Amino acid sequence: MKAVTFCKACGNILNVSFNFCPFCGIPKKGKATMNEIVDDSLQQIDTKSRTSYLKRLGHLEKQLMDLEKELNSIIILKKP
Ligand SMILES: [Zn+2]
Repeated sequence: MKAVTFCKACGNILNVSFNFCPFCGIPKKGKATMNEIVDDSLQQIDTKSRTSYLKRLGHLEKQLMDLEKELNSIIILKKP
């Protein structure tokens, strides 16, 4: 198994021999403690899931509005 570490800036897995992160270009400084790595990872997961949750909510809201419009047009059509 290769020795790996995590980029403190973007959280990607890096080979320990790398001097900078190939994903975000941040120079690798020292070694993060396990707690720092876990905290950073959890924060990123949290932010990502929150962002996708909000995106889904926005999408659902739009679908509801479209549905409401459709229903309104059906109701208008059925009026005598
Ligand atoms: Zn990085």
